[in-house]
Amino acid sequence: MKHLTLKIILLVTLMIPMETCTTSNLINIESSAMNIIPKPQSVKPLQGTFVIKSDQSLSLEGDFVHPEFIKASLNALLPGAFSSNAGGADVQLRIHPDQSIPSESYRLEINAKHILLTAGDEPGIFYGLQTLRQLLPATVENQTAELHNNAIPAVLVVDSPRFGWRGMHLDVSRHFFPLEFVKQYIDMLALHKMNVFHWHLTDDNGWRLEIKKYPKLTEICAWRVDREHEDWRKWSPIEPGEKATYGGFYTQDEVREVIAYAAERQITVIPEIEMPGHSSELFAAYPELSCQGKVIPVNPGSYWPNEDILCAGNDSVFTFLENVLDEVAELFPAQYIHIGGDEAAKKYWETCPKCQQRIQTEGLENEHELQSWFIQKIEKHILAKGKRLIGWDEILEGGLAQSATVMSWRGEKGGIAAAKAGHDVVMTPYTYVYFDYYQGNPETEPQAIGGDLPVTKVYSYEPIPEELEPEEHKFVLGAQANLWTEFVKTTDHAEYMVLPRMTALSEVVWSDPEGREWSEFRARLTELFPRYEILDWNYRPLDEE
Ligand SMILES: [Zn+2]
Repeated sequence: MKHLTLKIILLVTLMIPMETCTTSNLINIESSAMNIIPKPQSVKPLQGTFVIKSDQSLSLEGDFVHPEFIKASLNALLPGAFSSNAGGADVQLRIHPDQSIPSESYRLEINAKHILLTAGDEPGIFYGLQTLRQLLPATVENQTAELHNNAIPAVLVVDSPRFGWRGMHLDVSRHFFPLEFVKQYIDMLALHKMNVFHWHLTDDNGWRLEIKKYPKLTEICAWRVDREHEDWRKWSPIEPGEKATYGGFYTQDEVREVIAYAAERQITVIPEIEMPGHSSELFAAYPELSCQGKVIPVNPGSYWPNEDILCAGNDSVFTFLENVLDEVAELFPAQYIHIGGDEAAKKYWETCPKCQQRIQTEGLENEHELQSWFIQKIEKHILAKGKRLIGWDEILEGGLAQSATVMSWRGEKGGIAAAKAGHDVVMTPYTYVYFDYYQGNPETEPQAIGGDLPVTKVYSYEPIPEELEPEEHKFVLGAQANLWTEFVKTTDHAEYMVLPRMTALSEVVWSDPEGREWSEFRARLTELFPRYEILDWNYRPLDEE
């Protein structure tokens, strides 16, 4: 489509009388329509231009869930737009509840008279607005753009996502991130049409979610001694009587605020509550829930393997977890609850009398089957709450209930096995989408956990593994990148790890893979960077090529 670009600019330039619109205030299609990320299914330049006025009329038709937010978003892009239900408004947004229009898809037509955005649902409208946003100059991002009398070249964008699960994860246990940053993270997802925020709320280094029934979770389990000046893997011992001063948590009101903020941006928030491993922070306040029964202060770093684990033989563990999950299910409207399930060391289960008794009573073969029994017991409770269970691929070991969804992180094998067994799968292999990995030379990059994951490799990712038969493709819901934060202490650093690797991922999960080419994407990506700068989002610059 590149060759069309110049023609359009020439055509448009000739058509506009100089007194109303000089070439300098013609929004250049070369730096707009062709640079949309993720790449739309189809972008067709049309004849003419839409001239932006200071007093545009706006009409919303159809069943909007967040009409005020949609109007405000549009007003930020095209200042002066106001609500009008009269037909023939300058900007018209229409939701047509039509079964034949795929969910989340949209049609954006900009012509000399109107901007017409139609979709089958509100997500489609929101994604159409994100495309319109990228068609306008980067200066719209801080709303200082004086766009009146600017002309947008006419264009028709028809677009639809490839996958329904376009996820980003954030670990707030290893390092705590303030509420305002969580919202900014959601803003980052929204610009790129990502639609799932996986919130990793609990892990060995801190519990981050207020649970009314167990106040000690946030009074004690959310705090650790401060070892920020030391290496994450080599922290010095906790002194007797030393105060736990590093940490934090989100109140249920704050969580509701995040959920509402995300919902306006068409993003589902999925909570993760880790079990049975990655749960040692609990034993700072509730030691009776572990096999060992010992108080373990919340660790200010990690040691490996971390063998402390919830006791599978103790019924009060399930009472505790079910009470926690009840509050989680009540708080989060998402269909899914993530229960972790990864890296559960079985050492203490092997010697714990209660766990061994459970293996006997339930007629289980070994500790792997005990983990499977544990997860299935939790799943029953989650299903009874009208929710679905999702977990890391270890939940496959020892058998898994059919309705459970698997997040394949240890490469693609778990995802392939799960899809072949008829489970829904979200692909999140560390080899392509672990954003805690280095994205360049470790000698010049900020410290990372290891690995080598440049943006080019993320861009090359294909979420449907070759090993799957065509009829199994439907089990792959999509893909997600994870940001573990052992080595990510600040919001600036978190942004740096995510951008532009998430930008690359957004195209992997949204756009048609046909004809995908790094150099073509690179050119569009470069055009997005000024936007990140205006938004004050820290990104890793591209390497010279
Ligand atoms: Zn036990």
